[in-house]
Amino acid sequence: MLNSERLKPKLLLHVCCMGCGAYVSDFLKADFELILYFFNPNIFPKEEYNIRLKETERIAKEFNLELIRGDYNHENWLKQIKGYEANPERGERCRICYRQRLESTARLAKTEKIKYFTSTLSVSPHKDANAIKMIGKKLEEKYNLKFLDNDFKKNDGFKKAVKFSKDLNIYRQNYCGCEFSRR
Ligand code: SF4
Repeated sequence: MLNSERLKPKLLLHVCCMGCGAYVSDFLKADFELILYFFNPNIFPKEEYNIRLKETERIAKEFNLELIRGDYNHENWLKQIKGYEANPERGERCRICYRQRLESTARLAKTEKIKYFTSTLSVSPHKDANAIKMIGKKLEEKYNLKFLDNDFKKNDGFKKAVKFSKDLNIYRQNYCGCEFSRR
């Protein structure tokens, strides 16, 4: 093993789907030892969740990356966003949803003694990268960790992610995840 590889810091990467996760993993792998975390209780229905998880498992294996699977409790997720169901994408419902997934990632990073954490969420042009950054920075302070605040859609990141996933024949969904984003 090269010396530089041995010195790479660990980073816990929250993956919302592998359509974006494969590109971000490839982008970060030169600088970090990556561990993937699939925690997405927002996804509805369960069949869709299973498809996205299976794709994440397949690519994690192909890329030789460790993958940690979070719980799936959609009922609890619905309780968290109660009252905000009708909000448009990027509204309060989404901010609660980002926070829930990022906080779970930060907690896990703390438990596993992984200094860095981030999420693939910012790849999508439908996501509010600034809100994601603000939440990540608050969690960084709360858990005494480092949040990597890259906006992965920058420099044509979204286009690159789409191309990357097409080249690897990775499933890409046509809605964000929850039932309210399917409308
Ligand atoms: S649209 Fe996406 S980010 Fe917003 S609440 Fe639904 S699943 Fe979460």
